[in-house]
Amino acid sequence: MSEPVTSIKTPIRLEYSYTAGRASARFLRGMSEGRILGQRCPSCRKVYVPPRGSCPRCGVATQEEVEISGKGTVTTFCIVRIPSENLSVKPPYAAAHILLDGADIPFFALIQECPFDQVRMGMRVEAVWAPREEWTTSFGNIRYFRPLAEPDAPFDSFKEHL
Ligand SMILES: [Zn+2]
Repeated sequence: MSEPVTSIKTPIRLEYSYTAGRASARFLRGMSEGRILGQRCPSCRKVYVPPRGSCPRCGVATQEEVEISGKGTVTTFCIVRIPSENLSVKPPYAAAHILLDGADIPFFALIQECPFDQVRMGMRVEAVWAPREEWTTSFGNIRYFRPLAEPDAPFDSFKEHL
């Protein structure tokens, strides 16, 4: 009697082109120049990075461009202990939501150059860019974030952005 089939492996590969759209294209062009560009909502004044071309809260188009620094604050984080084929970084490592100074929504990024168990809410961090000759129109130009020698941001300063 033969063994029952309990699973099969079916390698799948998809290739597709992504149309960035106007707001994301501006953002990605900025990335290729080492700039972080967001957009401010004309109604609620929130700054979105990366911008999507509209404010999800107010439902209006965003056009005012705002250049954001590469410094920010860790709002929340997690410690990753499971390896991934798509990442060269070895676990355990910290991945965090980072609220850039002047922005109103955080985004997810790696924290490096710091023991993973020292990452904390409120920690001040800065972007570490890939070498200039490697820059493309990609968010990947920012390799990761590293701690800044600054006091932690008080919880009240980012509690609305968790
Ligand atoms: Zn708005």
